Amino acid sequence: SFGRKRVKKDASVESPYAKLDCDTLSYFIKMKLRVWCRQPRGQWELGSIQSTSGEEASVLFSSGKVLKVARSELVPANPDILEVADDLIKLAYLNEPSVLHNLRFRYSREMIYSKAGPVLIALNPFKDLQMYGNDYVSTYRQRLVDSPHVYGIAEAAYNQMMRDEVNQSIIISGESGSGKTETAKIAMQYLAALGSGSFGRANDVLQTNCILEAFGNAKTSVNDNSSRFGKFIEIHFSATGKICGANIQTYLLEKSRVVQLASGERSYHVFYQLCAGSPSSLKERLNLKAACEYKYLNQSDCMTIGGIDDAKNFHQLMKAFDAVRIFKEDQEMIFKMLATILWLGNISFKVTDSENHIEVVGDEAITSAALLMDCSSQDLMSALSSQKIQSDQDIVSKSLTLLQAIETRDAIAKFIYSSLFEWLVQQVNKSLEVGENHTEKSISILDICGFQSFQKNSFEQFCINYANERLQQHFYRHLFKLEQEDCESDGIDCTVLDFEDNQECLDLFEKKPLSLLSLLDEESNFPEASDLTFANKLKNLLDANHCFKEESGRAFSVRHYAGEVLYDTNGFLEKNRDTLSSNSIQLLSSSNCELLKLFSEVFNQSEEHGNSTFHVGAAYSQKIGIGTKFKDQLFKLMHQLESTTPHFIRCIKPNTKKLPGIYDNELVLQQLRCCGLLEAVRISRAGYPTRIKHQDFSRRYGILLSETDVPQDPLTTTVAVLQKFNIPSEMYQVGYTKLYLRAGQIGALEDKRKHF
Ligand code: ATP
Ligand code: MG
Repeated sequence: SFGRKRVKKDASVESPYAKLDCDTLSYFIKMKLRVWCRQPRGQWELGSIQSTSGEEASVLFSSGKVLKVARSELVPANPDILEVADDLIKLAYLNEPSVLHNLRFRYSREMIYSKAGPVLIALNPFKDLQMYGNDYVSTYRQRLVDSPHVYGIAEAAYNQMMRDEVNQSIIISGESGSGKTETAKIAMQYLAALGSGSFGRANDVLQTNCILEAFGNAKTSVNDNSSRFGKFIEIHFSATGKICGANIQTYLLEKSRVVQLASGERSYHVFYQLCAGSPSSLKERLNLKAACEYKYLNQSDCMTIGGIDDAKNFHQLMKAFDAVRIFKEDQEMIFKMLATILWLGNISFKVTDSENHIEVVGDEAITSAALLMDCSSQDLMSALSSQKIQSDQDIVSKSLTLLQAIETRDAIAKFIYSSLFEWLVQQVNKSLEVGENHTEKSISILDICGFQSFQKNSFEQFCINYANERLQQHFYRHLFKLEQEDCESDGIDCTVLDFEDNQECLDLFEKKPLSLLSLLDEESNFPEASDLTFANKLKNLLDANHCFKEESGRAFSVRHYAGEVLYDTNGFLEKNRDTLSSNSIQLLSSSNCELLKLFSEVFNQSEEHGNSTFHVGAAYSQKIGIGTKFKDQLFKLMHQLESTTPHFIRCIKPNTKKLPGIYDNELVLQQLRCCGLLEAVRISRAGYPTRIKHQDFSRRYGILLSETDVPQDPLTTTVAVLQKFNIPSEMYQVGYTKLYLRAGQIGALEDKRKHF
């Protein structure tokens, strides 16, 4: 196992050396230094201590008022000079208010990028900043600046790839609307700028963004261009460092969006683009109406997005299709599938008896859908209105109820869309495939949704949080490795403070035979099982794992690295099973449409692979559900990532209004916690949070020595300063290149310097 001695993880971001912090605070009080003071409503305010009595201190605030505050509500503030520090690591005190203040200060000056050790923090500016483009690319390329930037990360990745011949990865996470996809594109632009050449494919690779966003992004209540899938793009470079190809993998496309929309949200962009921008001849061939005529699109009362021209974007899409060599005939088939889905959504049913059995209404919707699907209206109608049931010897046909019919119709639409999406990604990959005689250099970019915790969390959050738990472990291990390398190379005895690895939580999800995912598959194989029986099974069998927490009814909680999340198992089994009725599959395989035939073949193959259908007591023929499929994908991804040098970018949304200039402390803090960032930084700097090169240290504090005892070299100067001020030896270690200081020491020295 990874972690050595395990210590309890502490949810706050204060230094683990609580005792030292206490001493520091006493020192602060004695010296009347600046402190952060927690206000009754939880926010922090800067003040300085005037006097103390017992456990109380009177604090002077900038407003001029003086208040008595309990010591427990005070934490040390950083000296002024650290105010704009571009790396949180440089802060002498890595407490919550200091970190928040630092990021806020920088954000207000349009410095949206900061570092937290090896991690790049990117605050969403919600406006166009003049900090991208060719001029900036060459500045970073020539290393004329080193202020934190996505370009800096891309440059580091590119440079290490070329120099060390090790593949690189850029792992981007953050919540919806925080800027992951924009950041990924900025990184790609940088790589494309370096890696374009006369025979290069840089432009083709950039064009894939347009295609994937059309089919995989949609307007949600939080983000007008929200990616509804996870994406991993591996960009290949030739020996000379030119982009020569790419490969894309996608995860967990939200297919329910095709048939069901929350108010104010939209379905996938491509539907609106097609309706708005397709030429009239194509419209005629597809019998295409305006977007507002389709139920799948008009149900949410949201047809357009401010500032977005769907028709224009349709033309962009066609250009992108051409760029990646999707043939015109294939483009036509793609549009035909989209029109099919829209017409399917308009198919309606009328109830024929008291038991809610139905009949399909024979209107334009059914004829158009059948025509586009290249099957007879009759076949389509019967697939949507009846089901075949195996009784003793015969197969009998039974009429569906209204609810069943709607579900069947929607299942077909979702199936066609998700199959189309996968097929399209495959076509793009084929087109960007690398020729044989190329080197295997690559930089991969992962754009996947961050940890989520809502009031009500469902199967989607369950999968996303599981993925984030895996990525977090990857992150921890990387930090741990860097830390060890740093100390070892500097000749430091580095007893890294051990921390709690999240292996136990991962075991809860995936360790067979008793894990969340294996029990989910097991229950999914019983037709009689319900979400409640699933929840009960979890309670009975997973109790031994500390990350599992029992809840009442259908719920359960998981103690994730980023906090506890309550899951409602409602819909888990159905979403995991992801079935399509045998009738529907038959319909698709008997269609004359090439694509539909192909989709049904792929479905049948995976069925055979995963073994038969769900039936009672079929423990020997377990079908693999969506959850386990995702786990397998994730394992493959982790395997790929493990052979690369990772670079981490954490995107942060400073406000939920999508407006520039607003910085919501609470919101930022919650995201910093969710990405486990502060905790991780603290871990990596646990013993000695301040690390300064001897040159820098001696330059700044050498003046504290009297003229006569100023030595020549930086290392000796460093030691002389430490001795002169009687810094206790347990408070520091002197490395070959750097000085390692315990928390609080730099503040003390800064103060001496001030009063010098
Ligand atoms: P989701 O998880 O929903 O896909 P996301 O993290 O990918 O969200 P983006 O779509 O990248 O978020 O960003 C949301 C919006 O924020 C963008 O459409 C853009 O308006 C703005 N934005 C993000 N990053 C930047 C940036 N660097 N400069 C300017 N605007 C930005
Ligand atoms: Mg996105």
